[in-house]
Amino acid sequence: MSDTITKLKVATIWVDGCSGCHMSFLDMDERILELAPHIDMLYSPLVDSKIIPDELDLVIVEGAVSNDDDLHRVLALRKAAKFMIALGDCAVSGNVPSMRNPIGTRPCFDRAYFEMTDINPQIPTKHVPALLENALPVHQVVKVDLFVQGCPPPADAIYFVLTELIAGRVPDPAKVTRFGA
Ligand code: SF4
Repeated sequence: MSDTITKLKVATIWVDGCSGCHMSFLDMDERILELAPHIDMLYSPLVDSKIIPDELDLVIVEGAVSNDDDLHRVLALRKAAKFMIALGDCAVSGNVPSMRNPIGTRPCFDRAYFEMTDINPQIPTKHVPALLENALPVHQVVKVDLFVQGCPPPADAIYFVLTELIAGRVPDPAKVTRFGA
């Protein structure tokens, strides 16, 4: 990341995750105000923006890539991004969403939409993205520049990573977080 960048154009995305990593981002509390002058948040579930920008300095991905909408958006964001972070264990390793992988999609559908359903059991096919056969960590889909582990990564770790990037340095997240932290 260039040290000449003073205000980063940033996007965050929440694919197959629980939103806990984004909640941890918000847990930075008043430190968000400290970061605000250095960041333009152009696309994120935290802001009301619907269009993926063409150019971004930093993209932060929460969650595994589990369906064709996840895949489309992560590919588009990677194309736009100079630097991409996999934030949290789901993005880094697949974690909870990938627990379905050894079972296969059909038994999961049967459990969720037939065995657990009393009224009109059916698999939704309209207006929902198609599930990929496996829930994938982000690096199995696109190049990831930095892996920030934790479930979720603590707010202090996110703050450390962002302040280092803003300062033009690539941080070592292993100093401040770990798998399952
Ligand atoms: S890493 Fe943990 S907190 Fe983050 S999306 Fe996955 S389950 Fe939720």
